[in-house]
Amino acid sequence: MHTTNNRIADISPEVTGWRRWLHQNPELLFDLPKTAKYVAERLREIGVDEIHEGIAQTGMVAIIHGREKGPAIGLRADMDALPMDEESGVEHSSQTPGKMHACGHDGHTAMLLGAAKYLVETRNFAGTAVLIFQPAEEGGGGGDVMVKEGIMDRFDVKEVYGMHNAPGLPLGQFALRKGALLAAADFFDIVVTGKGGHAARPHHCKDPILAATACITGFQSIISRYTDPIENGVLSVTAITSGSTYNVIPPHAHIKGTVRALHEATRQTIADRMQDVCDGVSKMYGMEIELKYKPLYPVTFNHSDNTEFAGDHAASIVGEENVDRDCPPRMGGEDFSFMLLSRPGAMIYLGNGDTAGVHHPAYDFNDDAIPFGVEYWVKTIETRIPAQA
Ligand SMILES: [Zn+2]
Ligand SMILES: [Zn+2]
Repeated sequence: MHTTNNRIADISPEVTGWRRWLHQNPELLFDLPKTAKYVAERLREIGVDEIHEGIAQTGMVAIIHGREKGPAIGLRADMDALPMDEESGVEHSSQTPGKMHACGHDGHTAMLLGAAKYLVETRNFAGTAVLIFQPAEEGGGGGDVMVKEGIMDRFDVKEVYGMHNAPGLPLGQFALRKGALLAAADFFDIVVTGKGGHAARPHHCKDPILAATACITGFQSIISRYTDPIENGVLSVTAITSGSTYNVIPPHAHIKGTVRALHEATRQTIADRMQDVCDGVSKMYGMEIELKYKPLYPVTFNHSDNTEFAGDHAASIVGEENVDRDCPPRMGGEDFSFMLLSRPGAMIYLGNGDTAGVHHPAYDFNDDAIPFGVEYWVKTIETRIPAQA
């Protein structure tokens, strides 16, 4: 196992134990009673200076003061799992059918607890480590709720850092980039209201299926013809439902899908053009088309200076050759984006090695990544707010 730091190597088996307990006990969204209780118990055992529970329902913030006064730096972990069945076959598999830690948030939470343990013992920094444990990353916007409940001002956070494990990135490597790391992710619902009737008398009806397919075809022109080819955008229609039998024209059609973009301007262009397409088709076919565009997560935008610092902290652990400072952006979304809108900071990927991908039923967080992740958090605090003495 990796170590440049003996104490981190010493505590890693205990962190692995916490990680596996969390893995066996997955909970969803804001509903994390067991997880939050477990995390708070560990934080009390570790002896952090303050624990503030019940933020964004089951989220919490732990405070550790350094041996000297100075600014506060935020480190964030997410705690929630996904609504799916586990097929990893590992001994510490989920004990709850239909729930699984398939994104490695169990590892993220355990590593931040590991950093807490180290930082409480050593306190080799000047200022405050603000450890943010958030619920509801997977679709609930828990990070947004924590920011709205005022954690950044309340704990006077100057900078905030995030970390996510990355299957496919070798163990012992880190990756990040300045600017857009992950995409803005939005959902949409469309309701087409026509007029149902006998399929043999279409002229007495208004066929919503025809209008729905015209919308979908129209959407295909948005990325190809209305957004800058250099910018990245995705518009995927993922569900269309209408009708139930052979000889009835149904009264309604429903469409669902998602939009991804790496720039806010592209995101806005896509949303505006979708409305134009719906309005145009509505006029052409003479029926009502309602688009509900639901902005979810903004672009996860790494601030330039903080990305530099984060890359330096990682390189100090694994060497420059094991840090990709210009990795390609991904079209997934991440609600750490809300924290990066509130404070300067950066998110980094931690190599999970050659494992199944996140959100896959065979996925498991790689415990061998724990020492790298814990040391990254420790380095971030000790380097951003170094003790003078
Ligand atoms: Zn996920
Ligand atoms: Zn995740």
